[in-house]
Amino acid sequence: MRAAVLEGVKELIVKDIPTPIPSDDMALVRVKSCGICMTDYKAYSGERKNLEYPMIVGHEFSGVIEEVGNNLKSFKKGDEIIASPVSNCGICKNCRQGLAQYCKNGAVIGGDGMDKILDGAFAENVLVPENSLYHKPRKISFDAAALTEPLAGSYKGLIEYSQLRISEDLVIIGAGSMGLLASMIAEKAGASTIIMIDIDDWRLDFSKKCGATHLINSAKTDAIKEVYKVLPEGPDIVFEAAGPLPAAQLAFDLCRRGTRVNEFGVTTEGTISVSPAEIHWKETRVDASFSVYPRVMQQSIRLMEKGIVDSSKIITHRFSLDDINEAMNTMKISERIKVIVNP
Ligand SMILES: [Zn+2]
Ligand SMILES: [Zn+2]
Repeated sequence: MRAAVLEGVKELIVKDIPTPIPSDDMALVRVKSCGICMTDYKAYSGERKNLEYPMIVGHEFSGVIEEVGNNLKSFKKGDEIIASPVSNCGICKNCRQGLAQYCKNGAVIGGDGMDKILDGAFAENVLVPENSLYHKPRKISFDAAALTEPLAGSYKGLIEYSQLRISEDLVIIGAGSMGLLASMIAEKAGASTIIMIDIDDWRLDFSKKCGATHLINSAKTDAIKEVYKVLPEGPDIVFEAAGPLPAAQLAFDLCRRGTRVNEFGVTTEGTISVSPAEIHWKETRVDASFSVYPRVMQQSIRLMEKGIVDSSKIITHRFSLDDINEAMNTMKISERIKVIVNP
């Protein structure tokens, strides 16, 4: 099979490697669509340190089952599937508490955050544990289906953790994939105000298609003043989905009493300045969200199947597997949202 093998920093080589054979609990999936996540780009660029070369990245994907292991019960050859990057044992304490993303016996496909890492989906084929497979409704395109995991991540952060309620006022920092998916969910969940903050006008303009009601360019204006012009009483929720540390600082600086902050975007090391006394006085509630568990994957599929959220709206670029280096470099330009690879 053809696969994009990451052999070192910025050494992403498309070549023929042996097609893997599924063990008893795995399926071999023919990959139809795989999204590039910022964590994939960071593996490529060398910003991500916790990985071993060679590896195949790519964890947001959909496809068709080509072969199944002996023990598979719910999936067969020819089934169209969506994969969760995270598989879990279902038996440990974390799994039984519904926190499958903390499972010590699980694995992550092409990604980050678990002890065991399996080869990812920037390849014609990928092995997927049955536990990671979801049936793809026919209505959902393979490209949209590849975005089930990021959509599930935004849903988990905004709805399950930060508990956005109908009529609330929301600020989203960062008009990238995660911020825009959150914005689409918030619009349907009944947020009355969705203020999008970014430093790029093209992205801000794009966010109008995804439910944003107000746009603020924090590179050109004082974002705090602008937010309080729109919301004199301050936001109910600030959802930080940008990544750089100043965005996290801004999230806390925007809080009035009782604001809930979701620290969703920052994955780089470093610190910001937050006063515990102020958190105490304001009763700031801080949530964060990393990875996904089965319930939010299933919910994300429902959102797309019922036509509530069209995740494919955020796709701006598509590349073949042979052009994956060009696809990776597209991650650096500001006029893009989601980049998809169709192996
Ligand atoms: Zn991702
Ligand atoms: Zn477990």
